[in-house]
Amino acid sequence: MEETKYLKEKLFNDKKNGWFRMTDEMSDKIMQYAEEYMYFINRSKTEKEAFNSVKDILIKNGFVDIAEKEELVPGDKVFFGNRNRSIYMAVIGSEPLLNGVRAIGAHIDSPRIDLKQNPLYEENEFAMLKTQYYGGIKKYQWTNIPLAMHGIFVKPTGEKINVVIGEDEEDPVFTISDLLPHLAQDQLARKLSEGVKGEELNILVGSRPYDDESITEAVKLNVLKLLNDKYGITEIDFTSSEIEFVPALKARSIGLDSSMVGGYGQDDRSCSYAALRGILNLSELKKTAVCILTDKEEIGFMGNTGMESRTFDFFMAELLNKTNSNKPNALEEMYSKSKVISADVDAAYDPTYASVFEKRNSAFMGKGVTIVKFGGVKGKANASEASCEMVAELRDVYDKAGVKYQSSQLHKVDQGGGGTIAMVLANKGMDVIDSGIPILGMHSPYEISSKYDLYQAFIGYEAFYKYE
Ligand code: MN
Ligand code: MN
Repeated sequence: MEETKYLKEKLFNDKKNGWFRMTDEMSDKIMQYAEEYMYFINRSKTEKEAFNSVKDILIKNGFVDIAEKEELVPGDKVFFGNRNRSIYMAVIGSEPLLNGVRAIGAHIDSPRIDLKQNPLYEENEFAMLKTQYYGGIKKYQWTNIPLAMHGIFVKPTGEKINVVIGEDEEDPVFTISDLLPHLAQDQLARKLSEGVKGEELNILVGSRPYDDESITEAVKLNVLKLLNDKYGITEIDFTSSEIEFVPALKARSIGLDSSMVGGYGQDDRSCSYAALRGILNLSELKKTAVCILTDKEEIGFMGNTGMESRTFDFFMAELLNKTNSNKPNALEEMYSKSKVISADVDAAYDPTYASVFEKRNSAFMGKGVTIVKFGGVKGKANASEASCEMVAELRDVYDKAGVKYQSSQLHKVDQGGGGTIAMVLANKGMDVIDSGIPILGMHSPYEISSKYDLYQAFIGYEAFYKYE
């Protein structure tokens, strides 16, 4: 009996819940890390805020802007800020860069509701804002919840005006009103995907008129007056603004056991934070460690702050230049010997919607960081598949560091699917593998992660940077 039990344990790949047999010390570390993580995501709700938070943390930890360095030597810690929206950083190793680097790439943009550029209007004495959603959202989830307004207005003079309204307890918030059920007979008969339509995502910003009965659009005028008094902007300034509405909700522990985190933007700031924390304290590396925190992932990687941009190549070329190792094709040579984790969240198995998951290959919360060999749709179409050699190497890294991992696949065969920046990194010639954190309710205003998995990603990524 005992013997067969032992044999089974030896031969099976049983994925046990990570919380079993945990020491109090480890539990404390996990809880502490989750607290720091929640603090980070609460002040990093847009890509620009995440950029600023990351830059602050880097400077506090001895990283310097690469522009300030003429030459780089082993142990140097540098970063490159790309237009305040994406940021790359490196810790220089003792081996030549041409031997390849160890990189981790995550994204700091998240699904949200942007404004159109002529957003403000008055209708029946409500002031409202027209919106354009960003990324893949289930639109009905974003109605009748508190929303905060984050972003910048830029004047033709170049003056930038930062706006954050709705995060302080004292601040007002905003919301998108949905129809009451009593009158929603027709709406409720719509398909869920059209339950709330894109053009129905109109944000309420005011209902009190400017105190002059003789004018029209007095509520709109009052809103503009308030904005003008506080920020000095006029209606045309929306034209050159990036205003993002995000849930005005703080990240909190979830469950009686506080084992989970609920919060906005965990796709992909959970992996971003783990990748950042992992690189902060590295020293005496052989291979150079590189962390990529990119923008525009949720809308297809394009744009000069997205992963498709050559700006990252420029940063890597600067590393070559400043270590005096550049030469024709050096970039390609370096990439061809580099290994990179595409650190992005995966769908966690949800027992309420069991039918869309394939249980034997799903990611489970509390069972560690995922290893995703391939994504894509249908017959692996457009998948950036990691080689089994690369999977084996990552297993080795995680095993040696005592990191709990699980092999997973986002979707059932022929049921949806998707891709990550892995394909872009693979295009550069690097060995890429997806490895991230399972999330429930991905792309919703309040995503859910396991504190256990958050911590596994951190220690796993830190070990990968050090991998020789
Ligand atoms: Mn993502
Ligand atoms: Mn996403």
